[in-house]
Amino acid sequence: MGIDLHIHSNASDGTLTPPEILSLAAKLQLGAIAITDHDTIDGVKQALQFGIPPSVQFLTGVEISATPPPLFHCPGSFHILGYGIRPEDPALNHTLFQLQDARRNRNPRIIERLNNLGIDLTLEQVRQIAGDGLLGRPHIARLMVQKGFADSINDAFDNYLAKGKPAYVDKFRVDTSQAISLINAAGGIPVLAHPYLLESESEKKLEELIVTMKAMGLKGLEVYYPDHPPEHTALYVRLAKKHDLLMTGGSDFHGALKPEIQLGTGRGDFFVPYAFYEELQHQL
Ligand code: AMP
Ligand code: ZN
Ligand code: FE
Ligand code: FE
Repeated sequence: MGIDLHIHSNASDGTLTPPEILSLAAKLQLGAIAITDHDTIDGVKQALQFGIPPSVQFLTGVEISATPPPLFHCPGSFHILGYGIRPEDPALNHTLFQLQDARRNRNPRIIERLNNLGIDLTLEQVRQIAGDGLLGRPHIARLMVQKGFADSINDAFDNYLAKGKPAYVDKFRVDTSQAISLINAAGGIPVLAHPYLLESESEKKLEELIVTMKAMGLKGLEVYYPDHPPEHTALYVRLAKKHDLLMTGGSDFHGALKPEIQLGTGRGDFFVPYAFYEELQHQL
């Protein structure tokens, strides 16, 4: 039985509602799932309120955008996952609110940059795509595709929205140590997300990062991820075992905003064993 511990709902930049994700997980016979939206747990709260299907184990989750520790240069996305967090934890909710605010301030600036580049779109139009969810770059990318300014969401990122591209705008993030402490204090398990996307130069540097983060309270490593080449997955498994970290995995499902990725199975051959869920659950 497979599981999926990395899923975005429409509370952030996924396109399925939390109840739709739960139903799909049951239909696909996934043994366990976690909803891990960017900087929000509204989707988790909605899922709990809706009711979890009896055949699916549900872990609360979040994916926090953090600043890497000093001396670690990570050009890619630096994200920390938190599993089994108490959704009502006041400190967690407070910090997530600050991060949501940072996103709200960032979006008009991205739109302004795009406008200056001759790309005619408005925040209002992006909002229509995002619905009530937390607006992110994938929503802007989708609108750019709809309006013919990009061939695909990836193309919009590669040419405009990714870090280092002309419409990129940075946003406030919490420190790594702060993100890790916050998750631990909310009763959760902090996990370094998709190490491959950090684009860390070397194995040695990645190991140093893991050691540094473990000293801050890190408990796990996302070893299985659709973009991880097999030899990298093997390295992450080795590092997790060596440093006594839990192993997790998930598809990073975003519905129609990442159409190539399916819930549970990624690009088709992706599989995360149920044992990962059991080990996590055991530590909560
Ligand atoms: P944001 O929340 O605005 O920082 O956007 C983060 C989301 O954008 C992540 O969920 C990724 O799936 C997506 N993303 C980030 N970089 C890229 C990229 N280069 N190509 C496609 N999607 C990306
Ligand atoms: Zn996302
Ligand atoms: Fe991520
Ligand atoms: Fe994600």
